[in-house]
Amino acid sequence: MVDQSNQPQTDAEWRERLTDEEYRILREEGTERRGSSELLDVDDDGVFRCAGCGQVLFTSDTKYGSGTGWPSFYDPADSDAVETRADHSHGMTRTEVVCRNCEGHLGHVFDDGPEPTGKRYCINGIALDFDEE
Ligand SMILES: [Zn+2]
Repeated sequence: MVDQSNQPQTDAEWRERLTDEEYRILREEGTERRGSSELLDVDDDGVFRCAGCGQVLFTSDTKYGSGTGWPSFYDPADSDAVETRADHSHGMTRTEVVCRNCEGHLGHVFDDGPEPTGKRYCINGIALDFDEE
């Protein structure tokens, strides 16, 4: 588990910790521009951590090229890594994906992913930090 003792508690502390763009995605449920993530082309072995708190969220094993313009995974690193919530914003019903540790917004999950899960975790690259192994 990640050491949570120095995790921001207030909005002001989050603003200090994160870049403007990270704050907009993680704390305000923003979406990065399609195709803008440096992580789209990463195919090295490694882990993807939450940019807010450092928790491992996804691994390179489940990353795949979805062609959507956002980093995509078919499964989280483990079942405790992320949490899902119903999201009714923008007149749509979607399933939001958040970091279970800091509740930062990561992206959405859809049911059109590849086997074995059939899930597509469509994640903002800005919400992730890649650690090569
Ligand atoms: Zn987090």
